[in-house]
Amino acid sequence: MSEDLPAKPRQSESSKATLCVKCEHLCPPELERCDRCGAHLFIVCAHCGHKNARVISRCEKCKHRLHKSVKDRVKRAGAGSLNLLYLAGAILVVLVSVGLIIWLADIRLW
Ligand SMILES: [Zn+2]
Ligand SMILES: [Zn+2]
Repeated sequence: MSEDLPAKPRQSESSKATLCVKCEHLCPPELERCDRCGAHLFIVCAHCGHKNARVISRCEKCKHRLHKSVKDRVKRAGAGSLNLLYLAGAILVVLVSVGLIIWLADIRLW
């Protein structure tokens, strides 16, 4: 006879179906994953921890971008990524030349 259970916040008012980003299936709001394809329906904001539907590109709470795109990273890094590419190229050239020197030295030894 324990009827003094804590009142559970019922989500009937905010029972908006969550749209699956993968198969566009409307899933019940209580589901974490799509009941059709198994894709995650929510993404947790890395900035404030708010749980957002994956269809949203920016956090509902803090407007922080939820999906990191490679293009944006390249844009932001700008010259930095170019330098990195240059560095990788330089390292490759050094490695190849060192290999060549060793190879040539080997031939001379023979
Ligand atoms: Zn799905
Ligand atoms: Zn946020």
